[in-house]
Amino acid sequence: MAAQMTDAHRRFLQVLMSHGIMEGSEARKLHRRCCEIHKVYYAHDKLDDFISTINSHLQPLFMQIRKGMSEGDGRAHYALVNLAETEITKMASDYTENELELFRKAMDLIILSENGFASSTEILNLADQLKTKKMKKKEAEQVLKVFVEDKWLSERNGEYTLHTRCIIEMEQYILSNYQDVARKCNICHSLAIQSQVCESCGIAMHLPCVRKYFRAQTEPRCPQCNDFWSCDIPGTSRMDSQSPSKTGRAEKSFILSPRRC
Ligand SMILES: [Zn+2]
Ligand SMILES: [Zn+2]
Repeated sequence: MAAQMTDAHRRFLQVLMSHGIMEGSEARKLHRRCCEIHKVYYAHDKLDDFISTINSHLQPLFMQIRKGMSEGDGRAHYALVNLAETEITKMASDYTENELELFRKAMDLIILSENGFASSTEILNLADQLKTKKMKKKEAEQVLKVFVEDKWLSERNGEYTLHTRCIIEMEQYILSNYQDVARKCNICHSLAIQSQVCESCGIAMHLPCVRKYFRAQTEPRCPQCNDFWSCDIPGTSRMDSQSPSKTGRAEKSFILSPRRC
């Protein structure tokens, strides 16, 4: 039987809903605050249990709080996912048809790219080729901004990638609709948009997963084929996708380096 849903659970859910996505440390703080406010049993290491209680009550509504990883910095995130709609129609009620078409095109560019990014120029060039209704560049720029605000895309230095929230929500959609090109990470087995790819056998690894996996190894070798891993192993503190203020030179050149290296 599912555990009782308390006011603490309800408050947690409401706050998460209003954010759409939350970083792990934020979610842990919120967990504590909700339990304190409503005088509910709290244990700092019980967040996942707390969430699974909420999830058991969300199930009849075809909703779920899902945990995922930011591809930039490897930190855990929690997002509320709608399971009833498996396609991009999740977004349909919030955007017009041509906005959705632009999003789909941007998503194509990002997924088909070598490094998991598409430049604003590349995306804006498609605006006057939309089949539903053409968009002026200025208008398209504005729409891209909204996609970033709504956490479907994230942007750094004019380069766009899928937001962590989008990856958590759309993972199944992307894996089934981009079967031949979408890759799964060899380490954590989730969808990998930004990744490094083995030159010999073609397996992919998220950048934070690469960093973690090779941390203890003197000579990096592919976990699949054991060939030398020829990509640069990403450094530690320079890949925080959530805070552009930390963007340094090293990070920029790293982003722009090709996925297949
Ligand atoms: Zn991974
Ligand atoms: Zn390999």
